[in-house]
Amino acid sequence: MPKQRVLSGMRPTGKLHLGHMVGALDNWKQLQEEYECFFFAADWHALTTEYANTDIIQGSIQDMVIDWLSLGLSPEKSVLFVQSKIKEHAELHLLLSMITPLSWLERVPSYKEQQQELTNRDLSTYGFLGYPLLQTADIIIYKAHKVPVGIDQVPHVELSREIARRFNFFYGEVFPVPEPMLTEIPKLLGIDGRKMSKSYDNAIFISDAPQEVRRKVSLMFTDPNRIRRSDPGNPDICNVFAFHKVYSSPEIVERVNVDCRRAALGCVEDKKHLAEILVAHLAPVHERREKYLQNPRLVEEILEGGCQKARRIAAQTMEEARMAIKI
Ligand code: SF4
Repeated sequence: MPKQRVLSGMRPTGKLHLGHMVGALDNWKQLQEEYECFFFAADWHALTTEYANTDIIQGSIQDMVIDWLSLGLSPEKSVLFVQSKIKEHAELHLLLSMITPLSWLERVPSYKEQQQELTNRDLSTYGFLGYPLLQTADIIIYKAHKVPVGIDQVPHVELSREIARRFNFFYGEVFPVPEPMLTEIPKLLGIDGRKMSKSYDNAIFISDAPQEVRRKVSLMFTDPNRIRRSDPGNPDICNVFAFHKVYSSPEIVERVNVDCRRAALGCVEDKKHLAEILVAHLAPVHERREKYLQNPRLVEEILEGGCQKARRIAAQTMEEARMAIKI
């Protein structure tokens, strides 16, 4: 039985943080053991919001792929490539734009949400509205069967399914209808308790040196009602505890849970402990990172190899799509 194909991408818009690690990359690492995986740096998608600040994109691609490789994504198991190197994505995006009703794009929930959230840039652009359509082209050009997503991205895959069906209806069966692969994503907030994001200056980056990790963890918000060391704490509303649940052993989680509630553990002590757990977790990642940083040519070769594989498949699909449309 041939393996089913999975596709996912990430926008190169700055350094990756622990939220990316638990939110996507740890999952990608597992998926590559079971599926034929295509993972790409979504630089055209980055342009939809960073069009006025493009310097950040090119530098971030190399950095991001180094993080991917350091975390265990393997070019032997997965196809790692850069979206803009495969021009066929743009051609399919254009063809799909002919058959996609505007209202389908306007009703995607993240369209309005992001416009309201990212108020520091003008997102009333054609490219931003078409973002989910380009995503559809990314997915179906590889005839991906599954797309790993969190619950908030399911509407995007739903849209891709509708567009693939519409294309097949007009021109004949070319594209398999992709399925969302719902992934339970542990939520990691930033050190100030808001969503972890480089724009909030609250992220712990995968590349942060041990001293920096310790400094950031020492600044983390805890249970706001715990004023004195002798006050019993409530781990359920403490961000440090949320990190323990992701990174610490069940025994440690249980001990913190009990000791915090009876004020047998202080926050300063607990944060120091958590910081060391994170530092130990990141140590092998940093070791591999160093290897790739010392050898940027190796990273370029990995991406070139991935682009070649991706291009072959995308070109074949476009042949079929053009024949189906008779153009
Ligand atoms: S002891 Fe740990 S879990 Fe409890 S409030 Fe302090 S930092 Fe949070």
